[in-house]
Amino acid sequence: MKIALIAHDKKKDLMIEFTKKHRDYFEKHELYATGTTGQLIIDHTQLNVHRFKSGPLGGDQQIGALISEELMDLVLFFRDPLTAQPHEPDVSALIRLCDVYNVPLATNIGTANYLIEYLNAR
Ligand code: PGA
Repeated sequence: MKIALIAHDKKKDLMIEFTKKHRDYFEKHELYATGTTGQLIIDHTQLNVHRFKSGPLGGDQQIGALISEELMDLVLFFRDPLTAQPHEPDVSALIRLCDVYNVPLATNIGTANYLIEYLNAR
């Protein structure tokens, strides 16, 4: 599966812990991420991650483009709902495209854990 991983700044520690916890699962898949999130995952897990631009610089839109090409199978996007994001329109557009193309999307670690546990059990 092609999996996109994105975390807003205050959720990045959570994303690192999450990818460490599920490292065995993630190493079997093709990983994509926005720039900073991707670099942190690489540094802490040594997983292979294709990094796009940072979210505020267009990374969310690059991932959105792959979704619209039907090239993404799962999006795990740890949003920070308590901080204003300069690229909020891009965030909304990414979520919207997941719904347009019926791509499974988790916007918090609770849903993401359930999804990975489900996928692991298959
Ligand atoms: P980042 O982008 O991984 O480059 O910080 C994430 C975002 O804010 O959308």
